[in-house]
Amino acid sequence: MASNRYSILPVLLEAFRGQTGWRPAWRKATPKPAYDVVLVGAGGHGLATAYYLAKRYGIKNIAVVEKGWVGSGNIGRNTTIVRSNYLLPGNVPFYETSMKLWEGLEQDINYNAMVSQRGILNLYHSDGQRDSYARRGNSMRMHGVDAELLDDEGVRAMYPWLNFNDARFPIKGGLLQKRGGTVRHDAVAWGYARAADQLGVDIIENTEVTGFRIDNGRISGVETSSGFIAAKKVGLTCAGNSSRVAALAGLNLPIESHVLQAFVSEGIKPFIDGVVTFGAGHFYISQSDKGGLVFGGDLDGYNSYAQRGNLPVVEDVIEGGMALMPRIGRVRLLRSWGGIMDMSMDGSPIIDQTPINGLYINAGWCYGGFKATPASGLCFAHLIAKNEPHEVARSYRLDRFRTGHMIDEKGMGNQPNLH
Ligand SMILES: Cc1cc2nc3c(=O)[nH]c(=O)nc-3n(C[C@H](O)[C@H](O)[C@H](O)COP(=O)(O)OP(=O)(O)OC[C@H]3O[C@@H](n4cnc5c(N)ncnc54)[C@H](O)[C@@H]3O)c2cc1C
Repeated sequence: MASNRYSILPVLLEAFRGQTGWRPAWRKATPKPAYDVVLVGAGGHGLATAYYLAKRYGIKNIAVVEKGWVGSGNIGRNTTIVRSNYLLPGNVPFYETSMKLWEGLEQDINYNAMVSQRGILNLYHSDGQRDSYARRGNSMRMHGVDAELLDDEGVRAMYPWLNFNDARFPIKGGLLQKRGGTVRHDAVAWGYARAADQLGVDIIENTEVTGFRIDNGRISGVETSSGFIAAKKVGLTCAGNSSRVAALAGLNLPIESHVLQAFVSEGIKPFIDGVVTFGAGHFYISQSDKGGLVFGGDLDGYNSYAQRGNLPVVEDVIEGGMALMPRIGRVRLLRSWGGIMDMSMDGSPIIDQTPINGLYINAGWCYGGFKATPASGLCFAHLIAKNEPHEVARSYRLDRFRTGHMIDEKGMGNQPNLH
C-alpha cells in the first residue's frame, strides 16, 4: 500500500491513535521480469530520474536497482550545499533550473527536505580574485541568477568574527548568492523515493547490477545479483561507480574516481547563518540545524573506491578552517566520512546516450552533484523518454572529450583531481 500523504491532519490524527497508522515511505519491491526503464543506482539522481519519468513523462513501469540501500551513497554523504553560482553558459542555465526545482520541491514531492536558502558567500582574498568573482557574478546576473559582490565591509557586516586582517590571506570581500544554501541530503533521497514509489516505481534495494545483456548493439536488460531483469531502456546513475559499471557494458568513460571527505563537529549554538567558502584554500562550512559545523575541503589526491579518506587531507581542511575562522579551534570533531566522486576530465557532468542503443548515462558529477539532483533527474528523464537532450543539458555530451567542447568551469584543464 502506498505511503500516507503528509500534512498536519495525519500528524494530529496519529497523535490520538498511538502512531499506529503510518505506512512505510516506500514498498520493499521485488523485481518483475521486465520493465520499460531500469535505472542503476538509487542515489539522488536515480531516484529523481525515476520520479520525473513517472510524473512528467508518463513512463511508470520503472525499476531503480540499488546494490546497497537508499541513501547509502553520496546522496547521504555530502555537505548539503546547493547553489547556482556558475560562470559558463553550459552550466548556469542547468544549475539555475535545479535551483528553481529546489525552491518548489517540498510541495512537489510532499516531503520536508529542509530546503534552506540561507545564502552562500564565496570569499575573495586578492584584487585578481575579486575581478574573477565580478566576472562570475556578471555572468550569473546576465542569466537571471541573483549575485551580489561584497567588499570587506559587506562581509564584516555578515560575519564580523572572520579573520580579516592578520591572516596569511586577508579577506577582501565575497560573492554572495542569497538563494543558495543547504538542503537535508538524505531527506532528498527519501522524499524522491517515496514520491516515485507512489507513482508505481519499484525501488529494488540490496541488488547489484553485475552485467548488461546487449543484443546487436541494443540493450535488452541487466544481470543482477537477483537474476536477469529485462528492460527496453537502461539508465546509469551510479555516481562514484560510473566507470566500473559502464565497463561492464564495454564502455571506457573519461572519469576517475577519487575520495572526498567531510566532517561534522559537536553541536554548538548557532553562529554561522549561511554557507561560507574560503577562496585562498579549499574549505567550506555551514552549520546544521542541530548545531553541528558541517565542513569539507579538497579531494584525496589519488584514485580510490574506498568510502574513507586519509589524514593529510584532514590536516589540510582543518588548516583552511583555522585560517578563516580561528574561533572554531576548540570545537570538538564528532565524525568524518568519505564518498566516492566520479571526477570527469573537465569537472562537468555527462547526461547523454551511449554508443549502445537504449543505454543512457548520467555521470561525472564530481563533488558538486547534490545541488544538481533535481535538474539532473529532470534532464535525464527527458533524454530517456524522448531520446533527445533537455534544452538546459545540451552541453553535457559524452563526445565533448573527443571533439574538444569541454566545459572547464574552473579552467583547470583535464586534471580531474584539480576540479
Ligand atoms: C563528502 C562529500 C561532500 C559533498 N558535498 C557536496 C555539496 O555540498 N554540494 C553538492 O552539490 N555536492 C556535494 N557532493 C557531491 C554529491 O554528493 C554527488 O555528486 C551526488 O550525490 C552524486 O549523485 P547520487 O546522489 O546519485 O550518488 P549516489 O548517492 O552515490 O548514488 C549512486 C548509487 O549507485 C549505486 N550503485 C553503484 N554501483 C551499482 C551497481 N553495480 N548496482 C546497483 N547500484 C549501484 C550506489 O550504491 C549508490 O547508491 C559531495 C560528496 C561528498 C562525498
